[in-house]
Amino acid sequence: MSEPGPVGEFGLIDWIRARTRVGGRTSLGIGDDCAALRVTTGADLLATTDMLMDGTHFRLDEAGPEAVGRKAIGVNLSDIAAMAGRPLAALVAVALPKGRAVELAQGVLAGMGPLAQRYGVDLVGGDTNAWDGPFVIAVTLLGETTPDGAVRRSGARPGDAIVVTGPLGGSLLGRHLDPRPRIDEALSINRRARPHAMIDVSDGLAADLGHILAESGGLGATLDADTIPIHPDAEALSRRDGRTPLEHALHDGEDFELCLTLDPADAEDLLARPPAGVTLHRIGVVDAGPGLRLATGGGLVPIEPRGYDHLG
Ligand SMILES: [Mg+2]
Repeated sequence: MSEPGPVGEFGLIDWIRARTRVGGRTSLGIGDDCAALRVTTGADLLATTDMLMDGTHFRLDEAGPEAVGRKAIGVNLSDIAAMAGRPLAALVAVALPKGRAVELAQGVLAGMGPLAQRYGVDLVGGDTNAWDGPFVIAVTLLGETTPDGAVRRSGARPGDAIVVTGPLGGSLLGRHLDPRPRIDEALSINRRARPHAMIDVSDGLAADLGHILAESGGLGATLDADTIPIHPDAEALSRRDGRTPLEHALHDGEDFELCLTLDPADAEDLLARPPAGVTLHRIGVVDAGPGLRLATGGGLVPIEPRGYDHLG
């Protein structure tokens, strides 16, 4: 006989509470008015949140609750990675369609489990509501800086090398539901080379590099078309929709690789001797003047910094 499911909101909360870890950095977890965490003296607390809505960011009937849970924590972990931070704890708020509330909550939690465990994230609180609307989930992730400091978007300098950690494009074929947050990669890169600026590729390479350039005082960049690593999914998608694999690599979102800029000498050293488990591709250079350009065999072509517009 299978274990009976939890009944009602408080039954569900008890069920969740029994499956969450307390200890380590969490002095007080689920069950009080707030959670209490121990943070490292001298570190900055990092905080990020992301809301995902059925019909906009995923289709629940196609993806299932486990994949949604994995994605919801994964996108937040990717933002902590983009700062070269260490994740600590998550708060999860959900609006659950009435009638399926308990089953969905259990699925979401099961989907989050492996990534949370892998990166030492404690679930320390949240909010569960049921309503007549679609499924919505918001994860808030807390982390902290290491002694190497946080890497911001705003530090790029003219002449910096632009580097990405992996192949891009075509995530809609499935990778968008399975983020591989580059936490370990970001920490080892920051320890070795202190990048000037970093971001995770969520809106698309052109758009996210555009965010770095804008935050760094209106700089520009030239990308070398031949060096941009293209994911096999971008090739596959190109055969379906006729857009080139390079267009997919430049403009598709949700690759969750890191894009960073750093001193060209540091880039050379990093690429010659990459930290264990880290792949790096040098794809271009930061320019003093504004605008994003692509260097091809035929010369320089402007790149539109279009990407996913969340309010579009
Ligand atoms: Mg981000």
